Amino acid sequence: MSDLTNNYARLLERISAACASSQRDPKSITLLAVSKTKPVEVVTEAIDLGLREFGENYLQDAIEKVQQLQQHALQWHFIGRIQSNKCKLIANQFSWVQTLDRPKIAQRLSNLRIQPEPLNVLIQVNLDDDPNKGGVDRKGAQTLLEQLLTLPSLAPRGLMTILAKSTDSRVGYESVAQLHQDLKQQFAGDLAQWDTLSMGMSADLEEAISAGATMIRVGTDLFGARSN
Ligand SMILES: *Cc1c(COP(=O)(O)O)cnc(C)c1O
Repeated sequence: MSDLTNNYARLLERISAACASSQRDPKSITLLAVSKTKPVEVVTEAIDLGLREFGENYLQDAIEKVQQLQQHALQWHFIGRIQSNKCKLIANQFSWVQTLDRPKIAQRLSNLRIQPEPLNVLIQVNLDDDPNKGGVDRKGAQTLLEQLLTLPSLAPRGLMTILAKSTDSRVGYESVAQLHQDLKQQFAGDLAQWDTLSMGMSADLEEAISAGATMIRVGTDLFGARSN
């Protein structure tokens, strides 16, 4: 068996074990395969294993893969920093954008989306005030969500977070899950499908699942270490 096959099997076991200990259904967790820096051949191998959702940070790199793999019914998620001048490509080459944290970018993505179905978006939150990453605070998430509800080409689906290394992952993930719930209550009548909580990576997916993650984003423990 290839490394990828083995890694995938091990990952599925970790997901089942984490779900078992918090009485959750493994089917309630989407595994986002973070294929950044990995060549199209590796993504093809992952498709053969049954993976259908892929996360990419680097736009140019991603677009080549998106275009080469068009014959497969894949969902591509943009999980990198969004530059204003790249919004047209991001809005049209991806099904999901997970790193939305600015009203101006939200407006641009909505204006530039051509496809009839809306672009799924997650609000990136940064509740541990880590200066090294993007994301809004509680108040910012609320303001951004109010705006998203007015934009016809975006579908707000939930929250995404990356924790600071120094943050206790259990505490950090639980506070994001709480905010997800609070927003759901606050905007109850207006949210069509507020069902996604994207948190947890190779090192801490167990803590994320126990806190309520519905999507984990795994690169290293699936595809191996990245050289950059
Ligand atoms: C690279 C990356 C991941 C995957 O991290 P691993 O530790 O390799 O599993 C997840 N989320 C984001 C936003 C990333 O940039």
